[in-house]
Amino acid sequence: TKVLLTGGSGFIAAHILEQLLAKGHHVVTTVRSEAKAAPIRAAYPDKSPEELTIAIVPDIAQPSAFDEVVKIPGIEVVLHTASPFHFKFTELIDPAVLGTTSILSAITRSAPTVRRVVITSSFAAIMDESLITSPTTTFSESSWNPVTLADIHRSPATAELQEPKPQLLNISLNPPLTHLLYRASKTLAEGAAWAFVATHQPKFDLATINPPMVFGPVAHHLESVEGINTSNERLVSLVRGGWKDGVPDTGAAIIWVDVRDVAEAHVKAGLEVAEAGGRRLFTTAGTFSNREMAEIVRRRFPELGDKVPGPEVEGGELPGEGERFKFNNEETTRVLGIRWRGLEESVVDTVKSLLALGA
Ligand code: NDP
Repeated sequence: TKVLLTGGSGFIAAHILEQLLAKGHHVVTTVRSEAKAAPIRAAYPDKSPEELTIAIVPDIAQPSAFDEVVKIPGIEVVLHTASPFHFKFTELIDPAVLGTTSILSAITRSAPTVRRVVITSSFAAIMDESLITSPTTTFSESSWNPVTLADIHRSPATAELQEPKPQLLNISLNPPLTHLLYRASKTLAEGAAWAFVATHQPKFDLATINPPMVFGPVAHHLESVEGINTSNERLVSLVRGGWKDGVPDTGAAIIWVDVRDVAEAHVKAGLEVAEAGGRRLFTTAGTFSNREMAEIVRRRFPELGDKVPGPEVEGGELPGEGERFKFNNEETTRVLGIRWRGLEESVVDTVKSLLALGA
């Protein structure tokens, strides 16, 4: 099968690419620049241009971004993973939303062979900020984040951003606002995708993959560990000694999944499981806490003893049963038939890959 995979330079996409090629599928993948293409080509020296094509799509926020690449003949499945995942204010919402609608319209116009499109959405599009500490809330495939663009404009912190000051355009923004913006970008992008399909009734059907925090070994090309993907940042900090004197708060989004399982979910939903069409797939292995991760690293990597916090160092616990949401993703597990990897395996493999990168 010929598959179009957007955002091929990403953390999750690198694993999808590896799995697709290992199964003998032909892949066209998009990246922003030749500099991002070269390491991918170098990682698969034996693949012919027919088996692996790398196309440059510099700016997914352009309405015509995907017009040319979708014309490559014979594409049957599209896996759209490209979307900004960082907490820098600039360029979050537009690439997420316009990147999604532009690829869907390009496929509708010019790619008649496409039968399924899978979009990498997020748990961010499922959760409701105001209910994450509520023990009577159960998030599932049918839950939707109620955030709207109007909420963002109403947020007091946003007022400051109406005329962004240059120094605000970097990471220094206040975290609640940037997290709100990221979650909104994913929610609005996924909402726009389902609305597109409902309105235009295209020939293809749609599935979304909605992972929470993704951990796992690094397969994408990094100049240095400083460029690590957002969700693995906490493990870099841990192995570098950043938690030695206090384990940081886990945060409210206390569920996770391994990157290899997220990649498998894309491959199954796109190519192997007919029943995945029309579904939101809530891929999660369960809860985690920073404390559990620190304990796993302490036990499994004794050589990191001077970096990792001892049992006496406080913090990072999972919130108690009465202070956290519940989740139910049985439907997704049944449809995809994936046995989710456990936290210990994931953390150990992630740390090994970070150490190999020189963390
Ligand atoms: P990465 O940052 O590693 O990958 C993001 C990919 O999107 C990269 O290929 C990046 O290109 C591309 N991209 C970002 N912004 C643009 C843009 N404006 N124009 C073109 N391409 C762009 O993150 P992940 O692999 O973790 O994320 C992949 C997807 O998974 C995203 O949709 C993300 O929202 C979603 N997700 C991730 C979770 C996680 O915990 N990791 C959790 C839930 C969802 P470049 O390399 O050039 O920057």
